[in-house]
Amino acid sequence: MSAKSYDVVIAGAGSVGLPAAYHLAARGVKTLVIDPLPSPGQGSNKAAIGGVRATHSKPSKIRLCLDSIAELSSWRERHGREIEWFAGGYVFVAYHEDDRRELLELLEVQQSHGLDIGWLERDELIERVPHLSAEGLLGGTYAPSDGSASPLLTARAYYEEAVRLGAEFHFGERITAIIRRHGRVVGVRTERGGYATATILNAAGAWGQAVARMAGLDVPVTPDSHEAGITEPLAPLFDPMVVDIRPGEGVKNSYFYQRREGQILFCLTPDPPFLGTDRRETSGFLPRIADRMVDRVPILSRAKVRRTWRGLYPMTPDGSPIIGAVEELPGYLQAVGMCGQGYMLGPGVGQLIARLVSGALSDHDHEVLKDLSANRDFTSAEALG
Ligand SMILES: Cc1cc2nc3c(=O)[nH]c(=O)nc-3n(C[C@H](O)[C@H](O)[C@H](O)COP(=O)(O)OP(=O)(O)OC[C@H]3O[C@@H](n4cnc5c(N)ncnc54)[C@H](O)[C@@H]3O)c2cc1C
Repeated sequence: MSAKSYDVVIAGAGSVGLPAAYHLAARGVKTLVIDPLPSPGQGSNKAAIGGVRATHSKPSKIRLCLDSIAELSSWRERHGREIEWFAGGYVFVAYHEDDRRELLELLEVQQSHGLDIGWLERDELIERVPHLSAEGLLGGTYAPSDGSASPLLTARAYYEEAVRLGAEFHFGERITAIIRRHGRVVGVRTERGGYATATILNAAGAWGQAVARMAGLDVPVTPDSHEAGITEPLAPLFDPMVVDIRPGEGVKNSYFYQRREGQILFCLTPDPPFLGTDRRETSGFLPRIADRMVDRVPILSRAKVRRTWRGLYPMTPDGSPIIGAVEELPGYLQAVGMCGQGYMLGPGVGQLIARLVSGALSDHDHEVLKDLSANRDFTSAEALG
């Protein structure tokens, strides 16, 4: 093939592809990122509300997100670029005994994997989240190092650093085929031509299954729609992201936080899920999420909503991502199925992929890759998805 040659070609300049490109380029790996959209982070990344937590139930996700938090929280100091990181913390609130028990059980796993998290009784929790409804409140977990940042500023920041380190980006171009020869990857084809590479990273998010199929593989990633919204700016009310895991009619859970500029950002996980890629409609969302938020923080009844939107979660059967090489096809790597946590997982996953490509995996990395391998049985669902 006389096409231009790269060490790694990444499908997708999103929450995962951008940090992966940055970390690969930082290790001197010649990297090309291809994305059909016109600029960085315009896929699901741009729908995310910016929550970043290491509060998970699966040790592999805790580890990846601790790495993400270390990277995002120090980004401005190290690179001089604002991504609006704020360590406001995360609280998971319990209003039912079952939820209280489940959260307390998870604390042990979370603490044993290095997460700074504790249990707050009702009054302590209300001190952390003033205005939180006390009625029926049993307490909740509080992880002070979790926080938030801007997904769009983060995408731009990783893009600029990756370019500075030598990574190339082709926007407005789609990968249409993965070329294999003698049972391994040798290149990719796009609408505009072809590129030689021994390694392709599928970081195509909700479109990850279509890219896997180009390599003759299958991966259980299916898109479903999630809705979010933002209010006008309000006076400062509370710092943490509030996660309300109480199921309701048509609702699995919901979460919201206040940005430093004062706006409340909010999301809801519908039950049953909205399967597919239709992002046109959000009319049912607002009444449902508004009721839940006002129920939890009554003062929010005065907030005016500015905008709502829909975006896609790249879902897997157990709510955890699928990361690593696949035995059937040397040269094919994947970091797909980030579900509702791709923005927070992205930096940690990017670091891991760069270590994988450079042959620098640690024992911990091997454990994480085993846990998130495509060959797992997908039966142990993420409890805090
Ligand atoms: C309403 C909402 C709120 C959310 N809030 C949060 C949050 O607070 N915190 C959090 O961590 N996560 C959140 N998420 C989830 C998060 O947005 C996703 O998990 C994450 O963006 C997925 O990252 P990704 O890189 O896998 O996919 P994307 O960011 O979508 O990137 C994939 C890229 O692949 C490109 N692509 C597709 N096909 C091809 C092809 N053939 N060739 C080349 N490129 C291709 C796409 O154009 C896209 O740019 C939220 C999601 C939604 C919808």
